[in-house]
Amino acid sequence: MLPTVRPRAPAANRLLAALPKQEYQRLLPELEQVTMPFAEVLYEPGASIRHVYFPDDSIISLLAEVAERSTLEVSIVGSEGMAGISVFMGVGVSRYRALVQGAGTAMRMRAAALRTESERVGSFQRLLRRYSHSLLTQVSQSAACNRFHEVDARLARWLLMTGDRLGTNEFRLTQDFISNMLGVRREGVNKAAGVLQKNELINYSRGRIKILNQAGLEAVSCECYRIIKAESDSYLGKS
Ligand SMILES: [Zn+2]
Repeated sequence: MLPTVRPRAPAANRLLAALPKQEYQRLLPELEQVTMPFAEVLYEPGASIRHVYFPDDSIISLLAEVAERSTLEVSIVGSEGMAGISVFMGVGVSRYRALVQGAGTAMRMRAAALRTESERVGSFQRLLRRYSHSLLTQVSQSAACNRFHEVDARLARWLLMTGDRLGTNEFRLTQDFISNMLGVRREGVNKAAGVLQKNELINYSRGRIKILNQAGLEAVSCECYRIIKAESDSYLGKS
């Protein structure tokens, strides 16, 4: 059970914040704010989705399970979106594991309430549709990225996306965690992090990462970072 706290107004989640005031007010009774502890599992593959989550300052990773112990991150959900989009698409079961990658808070809503609210024609429905497309872009770009791009470029992209969503350049990460996200062995993560550190782009020690040079890290990252960022920025701007 995630502990609940009083809802914040106005919303820190950008999707909720993009709603007209009246629509947000209508949703408020259905929303509750929860604290999201690091590494908490929200969904398991094949399990029913009971709640959808709109992160405030937390981030959620969606992971595909390839073999029993191998996972690969297929998308990151932060304050720009919502975890549990399959409910909006009419599917109440998760295909992914969803876990908290960055601790913080989120607004959550019961899956049944999301179904009802998103069936009403209005901004909420329109935003969820646009967000679905943004997420699809992220998932398909990640598939190409995981297949074709080098580990250090992928690590740079992933650190940039994580930093953007957390709104900070310093965060907690273990090698095991990164290894599960990127689907790369620990030695591979070590080597890639070593290259970024040697070039003074990041500092990595005792499970904490600090981005030292944002522009430099963007230069090392593959173009996937810019493609995904442009899509999630534009969906909120053009809703
Ligand atoms: Zn890439």
